[in-house]
Amino acid sequence: MDFEIGERLRRRVEESRELGEKEFRPAGLEADRLGAPIPVGDPFFDRCVARGEGRTRWPGTGRTETSEPVSVVEKLLVGEELAYWDRGVIISTPGPGLPEDNVLSMGTEEQKERFLGPFVEPDKPRWACFGMTEPGAGSDAAALRTLARKDGDGWILNGAKCFIGGASRSDWILVQATLDPSQGRAAQRAFFVERGTPGLGGFKIEKKMGLKAYESTSFTLENVRVPATHLLGGEARYESSAGFKTAMATFNAGRPVIASNAVGMARAALDESIRYASDHDLLDRERVRDRIEAISRRVRKARLVCLRAGWLADQERPNIIEASMSKAVAAQCAQEAATLGLELVGTLAATGEHLIEKLYRDVKAMDIVEGTGQIQRMIIARKLVGLPR
Ligand SMILES: Cc1cc2nc3c(=O)[nH]c(=O)nc-3n(C[C@H](O)[C@H](O)[C@H](O)COP(=O)(O)OP(=O)(O)OC[C@H]3O[C@@H](n4cnc5c(N)ncnc54)[C@H](O)[C@@H]3O)c2cc1C
Repeated sequence: MDFEIGERLRRRVEESRELGEKEFRPAGLEADRLGAPIPVGDPFFDRCVARGEGRTRWPGTGRTETSEPVSVVEKLLVGEELAYWDRGVIISTPGPGLPEDNVLSMGTEEQKERFLGPFVEPDKPRWACFGMTEPGAGSDAAALRTLARKDGDGWILNGAKCFIGGASRSDWILVQATLDPSQGRAAQRAFFVERGTPGLGGFKIEKKMGLKAYESTSFTLENVRVPATHLLGGEARYESSAGFKTAMATFNAGRPVIASNAVGMARAALDESIRYASDHDLLDRERVRDRIEAISRRVRKARLVCLRAGWLADQERPNIIEASMSKAVAAQCAQEAATLGLELVGTLAATGEHLIEKLYRDVKAMDIVEGTGQIQRMIIARKLVGLPR
């Protein structure tokens, strides 16, 4: 067991700290003040692209990957550091985002070329997103109702999605739909729907209590026609029920990342609490110190669970329990840390004049996205006693 991180990773974390402080914190505070996502044309996104961010891991047709793959542990440590400064800004940044893994693992070569190609060396900020959640299907993703009907050599999609990150600015949305709602998960498939496709519309940016830097958007699909080539994995997937499993696999891989973001936010809340308590002579009160100690202990515990989930993923070993545990523990810890801060700061926080109030609003989503705390605990319990998910 080795708790040391190498020099290269240490430098990356250090660079993330500098970037977070210089760019992410101010951008997040401004979006929160305005109560609106960072606009598409904001120079912040041009700077992201200029720094080489927002690129796909896919090397491009006929090219072989030359750069070393980024380990999950590295993603966790960098994500924790950036989320310390602003988690909403992380999600706002351009790139192929959540569906990239699905396309890499299941997409045909033509689909990689068409949908990931523009992200190899993006000429401008570009986004893509994954549309799973619906007004009637959140935790129970198997209940989704967006219908895909075969029509000649293509597909017709009808339905509605909500809370989809970056949907109105995405080049394409990977839409999860069902061929037959009565068949549950086995009938689900994913389809690429490009911006401007007739019938894709009704975009509405949701009102959120926190994480205002990025848009969460609802939209509708009314007789949206996509060619057969837009079924993820190609026609071979028509008969295969791997669609739902792949969607779920994405979430499994994402949970430790969300969890490490929550650890970063918990650390930020803790630091703000200690700073405030120090500035206001509260640290000589034993009960204040006790609470700071309790939260610090939980933050460290959450961090270790996250890193273990990531380390297992890097070893390509099963990590379902650890991935769910990391998310359940870290999201709860971030809420406790923000609550401590809010209570210490008191009336100043209530007026919205202190960062802790924003953190308090931001952290709640960490318990909701990609599987709520309750759902994580259910997954852990079922797995522990040997029941299927
Ligand atoms: C900020 C934000 C960003 C998001 N981004 C995306 C995105 O990019 N793409 C996307 O597809 N979705 C996204 N979502 C949606 C998110 O995945 C869902 O909100 C989440 O899955 C919960 O679904 P729900 O809100 O419908 O709650 P519900 O499923 O209706 O749950 C309501 C409550 O009941 C509890 N509950 C539900 N079922 C059970 C059960 N069986 N046992 C015990 N308790 C249960 C839940 O834990 C929760 O507390 C986002 C949501 C938020 C808030």
